[in-house]
Amino acid sequence: MTTLTIDDIVLRAKKALVRVDFNVPLTPELTVADDTRIVESLPTIRKILKDGGAAILMSHLGRPKGKPNPEYSLKPVADHLGILLNMPIKFCHDCIGRQAREMVDALKPGEILLLENLRFHPQEEANDQGFAKELAGLGDLYVNDAFGAAHRAHASTVGITRLLHPAVAGYLLRKEIEYLSRALSNPGRPYLAIMGGAKISGKIDVIENLLPKIDGLVIGGGMAFTFLHAQGHEIGDSLVEQEKIPLAKKILEDCKKRKMRLILPVDAVIADRLDNDANRKIVPVTKILTGWRGLDIGPETVKIINMEVRRAKTIIWNGPMGVFEMPNFANGTLEVARLLADVTKTGATTIVGGGDSAAAIAQAGLESSVSHVSTGGGASLEFLEGKTLPGLAALDTR
Ligand code: AMP
Repeated sequence: MTTLTIDDIVLRAKKALVRVDFNVPLTPELTVADDTRIVESLPTIRKILKDGGAAILMSHLGRPKGKPNPEYSLKPVADHLGILLNMPIKFCHDCIGRQAREMVDALKPGEILLLENLRFHPQEEANDQGFAKELAGLGDLYVNDAFGAAHRAHASTVGITRLLHPAVAGYLLRKEIEYLSRALSNPGRPYLAIMGGAKISGKIDVIENLLPKIDGLVIGGGMAFTFLHAQGHEIGDSLVEQEKIPLAKKILEDCKKRKMRLILPVDAVIADRLDNDANRKIVPVTKILTGWRGLDIGPETVKIINMEVRRAKTIIWNGPMGVFEMPNFANGTLEVARLLADVTKTGATTIVGGGDSAAAIAQAGLESSVSHVSTGGGASLEFLEGKTLPGLAALDTR
């Protein structure tokens, strides 16, 4: 990597402004439900403190749509970080303005300040230069350790790098980029992608761009039903994105032209409502009943995926195979998690990206049994597509 990192700069007596990715799931009681991303940022934070600097942390959380909203406050994250590091974490109720300025001025080496959710200001996502300038004014140098946000050109990831130098990568950003580049510069083949989740919308470009790079594609989860519908199947009340049907058809055609192995579900667990305790049946995808909806892949589909995964040497996985949050519809997703862990033992490279797939791997207790669990869903996919990540490209280079 030609990008400068925190190992290349002097941190002593400096106030390091660090963009972290603390976009973590919260419980209904507003405590941290999964702290993977916080834990992954600790090496960078510890390095700054160990070298005699102070850390000013900034992040987004969820989609508060440019307005303050207590449901998206980072305060619970500050409390959780304090427990992980066993030290007090200062918290500022805004990421810019007078209070932020005063708290930064009072910050001493060895201390940590977490700023409130960047997305409480619409200027963050608009990459507004005035907002970037206010942020930049808070630090002596800039560190980007938010791999999960590196595919977004926002004020805290790109705008700020025009104003504050050095602008360097943290350890998590470096680790993700190094791992993904190494694994995919010359991937072991066959190279299989497994895609799932609710919607095609966020992933259709990714699928199109991945096609020339991969040898096989499995589509599961809610998005599979748009493809099945495009093939002419009745899908009952299953999730469908009508406006994406032409695109789904185009991808089906593309796969045919490329003689690409495309695996769609052949059977599904269907239910009469979206509820863990709904009535349920396993049926072929050609027999989905009116009034019922597919909420997981069925056992025959799992068998086919099993065969594909065992043939492959590189497997990337993004998105659950069903509504895995409900135990009765989690089986397909957990089976994929187990399968990936299994083939990793026999030498396959397995890369899991996206919050839900990472959560499923953790739920199965297998997070250390796959080659790499990425902290970024969208970011890892865009990187695998071969796109430049703006947050990475904006940093200083050697
Ligand atoms: P995404 O954010 O697009 O990756 O979607 C993740 C969500 O997809 C999870 O919350 C799953 O519950 C949901 N999901 C997966 N399969 C289905 C399905 N067959 N029907 C409805 N939702 C699904």
